[in-house]
Amino acid sequence: MAETKYIFVTGGVSSSLGKGIIAASLAKLLQARGYRVTIQKLDPYINVDPGTLNPYEHGECYVTDDGAETDLDLGHYERFLNVKTSQANNVTTGRIYQNVIEKERRGEFLGKTVQVIPHITNEIKERIQDLGNSGEYDIIITEIGGTVGDIESLPYIESVRQLKWELGDDNALVIHLTLIPYLSAAGELKTKPTQHSVKTLMESGIKADILVCRTEHELSDDLRSKLAQFCNVKKEAVIQSIDASTIYDVPNMMLEEGLDTITLQMLKMADKTQPELTRWNEFLRRHKNPKAEVKIGLIGKYVELQDSYKSILEAFIHAGAENEVKVEVIPIHSEFITQKVIDEKISKLDGVLVAPGFGERGIEGKIRAVQYAREHKIPFLGICLGMQMAVIEYARNVLGLKAANSTEMHKETPDPVIDIMEEQKDITHMGGTMRLGAWDCDLAIDSIVSQVYEGNIISERHRHRYEFNDKYRKALEEAGLKVTGTNPKTGLVEIIEIPGHPWFVGVQYHPEYRSTVASPHPLFVAFVKAAVTHGKK
Ligand code: GLN
Repeated sequence: MAETKYIFVTGGVSSSLGKGIIAASLAKLLQARGYRVTIQKLDPYINVDPGTLNPYEHGECYVTDDGAETDLDLGHYERFLNVKTSQANNVTTGRIYQNVIEKERRGEFLGKTVQVIPHITNEIKERIQDLGNSGEYDIIITEIGGTVGDIESLPYIESVRQLKWELGDDNALVIHLTLIPYLSAAGELKTKPTQHSVKTLMESGIKADILVCRTEHELSDDLRSKLAQFCNVKKEAVIQSIDASTIYDVPNMMLEEGLDTITLQMLKMADKTQPELTRWNEFLRRHKNPKAEVKIGLIGKYVELQDSYKSILEAFIHAGAENEVKVEVIPIHSEFITQKVIDEKISKLDGVLVAPGFGERGIEGKIRAVQYAREHKIPFLGICLGMQMAVIEYARNVLGLKAANSTEMHKETPDPVIDIMEEQKDITHMGGTMRLGAWDCDLAIDSIVSQVYEGNIISERHRHRYEFNDKYRKALEEAGLKVTGTNPKTGLVEIIEIPGHPWFVGVQYHPEYRSTVASPHPLFVAFVKAAVTHGKK
């Protein structure tokens, strides 16, 4: 078997340049040429995983099948590649240190002083090579979070230096993503910040092999030559990454710039034919040529920050393309749902999505939005907390249990229609202890979901501590709410519907994590379709 090749992606000059998208785009092109590729993200913060971070910090927490709470970039990797990621694809400084300290306590370094070099760097190198050693991949792309020069990223940069030396230039390369700012007063693109960030990398003993330059304007031939000469790279290795109207254009832009070709040349890999991008380009064609438009409200409490609901927004893009419509997502802050917001915004929607979330803030607004969608027969999708709010709304307004609530919001509620799961009751540690990852769910026949999924058993990803309280199931069902999905082993209620409403579905799981370009999520596809039908009325 051929040796696994390693590609490292570092960032310079500024954060938020989109290393994840460049890594995913390159991976897409290599995959489209027949290579087996995966991507890994190394995050230099001390949290063991992003599960304990609020979305304002780093955006959404993405959950994998194996129940890892990870960086949202893993979502991009899955959406681009249609290949599942796992715990091994996201490593943080916290996890590295935790492992090393546990080893030290077990006595694995007995007699030795445990240090950043070699113990932390060895642990980092192991985490990188574990993926390669699995034999599942030809190429591992490792994205180093942060910006070169940051104190936090130094051990990662040193690990890359060592690995590159150990593996040899034919087996490992470094792509440096940088920013070429445009000074409008001078009317010029400036290369100096890039030169400095390449120099900073050099100070750590790493020569960038390929430069990917984020820019708002085309790089001229002269500018490319200058960058090549002063940053010590081949001219073909100066890649322009101009602002794109959609992230899904980036693979084709990188193809045009030859990023995949130069990568394969440098890694001494066969440049197998042209990438097979038929499915991808068909998606792009549909995405860019919508035949109609629907407005879907996203009711959540983190709507100020786009990244908080990344996977949901992307799932709408996939589902929109599938339906050949443009989904205009209208963010609506759940904390401020007044009659005015209902009259001016919610009443004009073709669909209402109530978002996942934690804690009390904004929940009464979510409940009001559910009520409006239910009573006015607007297609509704509730995800996780959104499903729980739909149950509370039904209990309050149809069953007449005026004080019904979740014990997450009101511990002493007389009617805990949503309650903490039994196995969660004794948990005191917050990190990694929710019900996480993929769990099976049986679907009821004659339900919306059994049609949508075209089957009777599904598996979806979860992230919650509270659940539908079975004690209220009978009463709620008699009042017209229907349970249409349950866990086959525990009976935990996974899905609710309201028969008689055109399209009302609440799910305890997160369908958005499973939606990809090649495989748009059927629930989102059906929800958008229902919104289209509603819009026509
Ligand atoms: N806070 C709710 C729970 O823990 C919902 C979680 C979520 O929306 N991801 O059950």
